[in-house]
Amino acid sequence: MADLQPPRGTYDLLPADQRRHARVTEGAYQIAGLYGYEEMSTPIFEATDVFLRTLGETSDIVTKEMYVFADKKGRSLTLRPEGTAGVARAFISHLRSEPLPLKLFYQGPMFRYERAQKGRQRQFHQFGVELLGVSEPVGDVEVISMGAHILDALGVADKVTLQLNTLGDSDTRQAYHSKLVNYLEGHKDKLSEDSRTRLDRNPLRIFDSKDEGDRDVVAEAPLLADHLNDASKAFFDDVKAGLEATGIAFALNPRLVRGLDYYCHTAFEFVTDTLGAQGAVLAGGRYDGLIKTMGGPEIPGIGWAAGVERLALMIAEPPQSPRPIAIMPDGDDAKTQVLSEAQRLRRSGLKVDLGFSGNLKKRMMRADKANAVAAVIIGGDALAKGKAVVRDMETGEQTEVPLSSLEDHLARYR
Ligand code: ATP
Ligand code: MG
Repeated sequence: MADLQPPRGTYDLLPADQRRHARVTEGAYQIAGLYGYEEMSTPIFEATDVFLRTLGETSDIVTKEMYVFADKKGRSLTLRPEGTAGVARAFISHLRSEPLPLKLFYQGPMFRYERAQKGRQRQFHQFGVELLGVSEPVGDVEVISMGAHILDALGVADKVTLQLNTLGDSDTRQAYHSKLVNYLEGHKDKLSEDSRTRLDRNPLRIFDSKDEGDRDVVAEAPLLADHLNDASKAFFDDVKAGLEATGIAFALNPRLVRGLDYYCHTAFEFVTDTLGAQGAVLAGGRYDGLIKTMGGPEIPGIGWAAGVERLALMIAEPPQSPRPIAIMPDGDDAKTQVLSEAQRLRRSGLKVDLGFSGNLKKRMMRADKANAVAAVIIGGDALAKGKAVVRDMETGEQTEVPLSSLEDHLARYR
């Protein structure tokens, strides 16, 4: 027999886990709807290029974490590690003539080859939003507010804080680049090997490193926040003012950068200290250059993605689904009538559990185990009078009810 465990870093979502996941994604989807965001889905694998070109060659995802494989025709495909690149690709191929702005919501599995631990899987789930076609800071404020609203609706708002930073516009980043590189060159010997590569290609990303030595170096590095040009500063001021106006508390974190190449201006993360090292639960930023980089029109974008597993660990136990009504025959003659009554009751919207086998006593015990609120017994003298016996499982009280008014009687158990 083959190994019965799922591959390292992947998990079965058993019914109790799935219930928590569903609570998270349904809660998120419901709130996103209030902001007018509509769900869409992209394929779980894409041409590898879709991610290579957008995430940046020096990103952790591209250098270490992607599941890349060749299909039978030798095409290079990749299991999606995140959602934004696929949505941008879909926008360019199908949605570019839609009126803007476009407000999109997605959810589903993502894949990253990472060191598996609590809150960090190789297959995990995200939900996320993308707002395309809004270049004003009010767009940033809306998507961050929506994230905060969702975390609030999930009951985890008091366990997270919003960290906020700006990466400025491209002029700002260019002017700052040489200052940062000068500083980092002076501390090259203390940087990790990865970060020495980043130094030539994308030094800003060193701020995102999880390596201790790197962290010590960037702790003293000159900050982009101190080098903002007027336009970048004004943009960031508007974002902050908008968040204040909507009552969303934030902490400035001048060392917060996003791991991906395509970000500008606003970068943010909702973080928690309740999940050990896996602190980020919902993170995102503005990516004005992305769609153009992929060969599309110059359309600004902003969005975020949230980790479903991490949120599922944080929410309260979701409510149990409603208790069923058990239905069972009293004697073999009533077996087929039980089937038709069960079907009729389900079609009227009741949750009905069929005991599949055994005598009445056995079925009643099973109904009890299934936590039924009531049992409907079909057969015997009652059936001869066109009635069923309904047993209230809490009180044990039994009532004869005409079959024709069974739904009405059972309505109290909905
Ligand atoms: P981290 O710094 O924890 O590696 P990240 O910056 O790689 O996170 P993003 O790419 O911003 O994460 O993804 C958005 C969210 O998706 C994260 O905030 C987190 O909640 C979740 N997430 C990312 N990677 C994983 C993973 N391997 N397992 C579970 N959740 C994840
Ligand atoms: Mg990561």
